[in-house]
Amino acid sequence: MTNRLYYHDSFLFDFDASVIDALERDGKHAIVLDRTAFYPTSGGQVHDLGMLQADGQQVAITEVADEEDGRILHFVAKPLSVGTQVHGMIDAARRRDHVQQHSGQHVLSAAFIQLFNMPTVSFHMGEESCTIDLETAGLSATQAQKAERLANEVIAEDRPVSIRFVPLEEARQLGLRKLPPKQTGDLRLIDITDFDLTACGGTHVRATGQIGSILLRKIEKVKQGVRVEFVCGLRAVNTSRRDYSTLTEAAALYSSHIYDVPEQVRKSLAEAKAGGKAQHKLLEELAELYAERLLAQTSGSPQVITQFFPDRDALFIKLLAQKLTAGKSAVIALLASGSGQPTLVFAQTPGQKSNMGQLMKDAMTQMGGRGGGSADMAQGGLPAGSIDIDKLKSLLQETARKL
Ligand SMILES: [Zn+2]
Repeated sequence: MTNRLYYHDSFLFDFDASVIDALERDGKHAIVLDRTAFYPTSGGQVHDLGMLQADGQQVAITEVADEEDGRILHFVAKPLSVGTQVHGMIDAARRRDHVQQHSGQHVLSAAFIQLFNMPTVSFHMGEESCTIDLETAGLSATQAQKAERLANEVIAEDRPVSIRFVPLEEARQLGLRKLPPKQTGDLRLIDITDFDLTACGGTHVRATGQIGSILLRKIEKVKQGVRVEFVCGLRAVNTSRRDYSTLTEAAALYSSHIYDVPEQVRKSLAEAKAGGKAQHKLLEELAELYAERLLAQTSGSPQVITQFFPDRDALFIKLLAQKLTAGKSAVIALLASGSGQPTLVFAQTPGQKSNMGQLMKDAMTQMGGRGGGSADMAQGGLPAGSIDIDKLKSLLQETARKL
């Protein structure tokens, strides 16, 4: 068993130890020390990073893992032999951050129990934020705010946090918030004075004030209940700073105050929607005018109109095809557009003998596109950016000759 120095002091960043085992795991060098302040990944908290000084050289710790047998594996950038004396140095900023997030989780989980009797079933610490999963059917925004408020009050009260080891039987009598699944030997209890008592092997603050603050973020339904994202301490400050910068940038685009951004966005969306409608109406009117002009320029029965529009899109030629073939006289429209995805639309006034769907299939085979449709209306798309205008124009003429 490795002597876990962090069990007694979460702010011990320097220590001396000796290498008692050296091995390879998954192609990586690992060592076991007789004692360590490095925290291994466990209980939702991620491992420490840092350095070992050994024989006058610095060796980086890349990962720390907990073993079934109670030993702690330190993955090292360079191999070290058994018997080497080392001086360990923990990355203090990373540890402090983990201590804040992890202790904040205790306070938050206890707040959800006290206020709404919602137990925490799991905890995850990520690089940017942390989450707890609550066993509950739902969680309202008001409830989340109340829990956040209570947690921050407990932080502001700077309640002492103590560690003690008690036998399992004694611990059962104490009404712990959570008992660990595997219980061997004494339990390590984390006591937030008059607020929360739970068994935990992680690293914690000395008093709740060190957590700094807690900020709740996204709340989402998950399979086992509700997932609450949160950040503590400096992460909360960094997150709020980022939120503020984002809002400020958005507000500057609207030349408005940050609190008016949602209203401005709503207004913009409504304007965009109205603009889209107006544009569609204009496009229809334009298609109508084009249709009148093209029909006036074409004779024969049926009137066959072939036209390529390099600057128009699929929507326009579809509208135009509809306008051209909606009248009483027999019309066949063979149209192509070049803007956006190059598109072909073949249409005829209903009741004629040609088959637009079949003509489109033939055209697509020739041009390497995909499309089809009914006897009266068919559409096909060509691969974007690969349009051969001369080939397209002669295809329209060729199709007209087949009618
Ligand atoms: Zn803990």
